[in-house]
Amino acid sequence: MQKPEKRGCLEKIKPYVPGKPIEEVKRELGLTDVIKLASNENPLGPSPKAQEAMQEEIPRANYYPDGNCFELKRALCEKLAVQEDQLIIGNGSDEILKLLAETYLEPEDEVIMPQPSFSEYEFVTRIMGSNINYYDLEPDFSYDLQKMLDMVTDRTRFVFICTPNNPTGTIAYKKQLEDFLQKLPDGVITVLDEAYYEYATDPEYPESLNYVREEKPVLVLRTFSKIYGLAGLRVGYGIAPAPIIQDLNRVREPFNVNSMAQAAATSALYDEEHLRRSQEMVKNGREQINKGLQKIGLEPVYTQANFFFLDTGVDSQALFQCMLKRGMIVRTGDIFGYPTHIRVNYGTEEQNERFLTVLQEALEELR
Ligand SMILES: *Cc1c(COP(=O)(O)O)cnc(C)c1O
Repeated sequence: MQKPEKRGCLEKIKPYVPGKPIEEVKRELGLTDVIKLASNENPLGPSPKAQEAMQEEIPRANYYPDGNCFELKRALCEKLAVQEDQLIIGNGSDEILKLLAETYLEPEDEVIMPQPSFSEYEFVTRIMGSNINYYDLEPDFSYDLQKMLDMVTDRTRFVFICTPNNPTGTIAYKKQLEDFLQKLPDGVITVLDEAYYEYATDPEYPESLNYVREEKPVLVLRTFSKIYGLAGLRVGYGIAPAPIIQDLNRVREPFNVNSMAQAAATSALYDEEHLRRSQEMVKNGREQINKGLQKIGLEPVYTQANFFFLDTGVDSQALFQCMLKRGMIVRTGDIFGYPTHIRVNYGTEEQNERFLTVLQEALEELR
């Protein structure tokens, strides 16, 4: 077969490693009872209000969705106290990351991102053939933003700050971030990926929308995939000063967010009860897991997210397999460069208990 050569920059792209789906584990191992704590999803499911809204939307599926996401934007403006022209809705916040790269990156440009962190930053940059400068998080996985600032050159277009950071759960603190934004040279966008925003309780966690209101060159990313329990629908949003949003809209597909997702997300925003229950579950989960791990001599990284990063002291792939056959799916740390860590999201009380039991059994088997 004759085909053109693919673009050279694609060679450097590593395929995304997703969390193993529940159905696949059931199929492969003949199990019936499987718990997935591997993709930071909400174990409480989608809000009942979102489910109702989707039902109501079904008979209108013959129509194209509203390409402008009018209702969803209106709800977000009200809830977040921002302007409509400061918002962009994406097919997941992943899509907004890609729009950002397509909008601003030339091949000779570079971005700065933390390590370990979310692999999408790498993916969207590589696709444009641009360069990546990695900032290694501190030994306790905290950010030293001065170090990131020192890495900025005249080719830097974005600095990615994932806060709470996936996979570590650590955050950038208010004072440091404000200092960083103040000193950042012109022409660099700070991407504040706040996919886990709703779970952060630390009083020093920044109120990032203030920076947008002050017209600082920041793009704040949030999503309906995590606390809102709508990962399967693919909907996320970005908040930035209007001129940045205008640029991003140039590369956005006209109907990038489907009608089911728009309806569900709009209703989910108003379901305070579901939001509160989800936050409560994680708060309790943190205590339960910390206590349980302490009993077996392990300590997770300090986290502000709905997941934790844990050094188990054993090979994470072997541990993963050992836990898998007991019906428990977690994420291995090797993909993040930490071969003895695992990343696990908090589940219900019962699921957390099962996790602790399975972990202990697996560790005994491996040691
Ligand atoms: C899960 C996650 C997202 C959300 O992605 P969606 O495309 O909105 O599902 C974004 N950033 C980080 C760091 C995440 O962990």
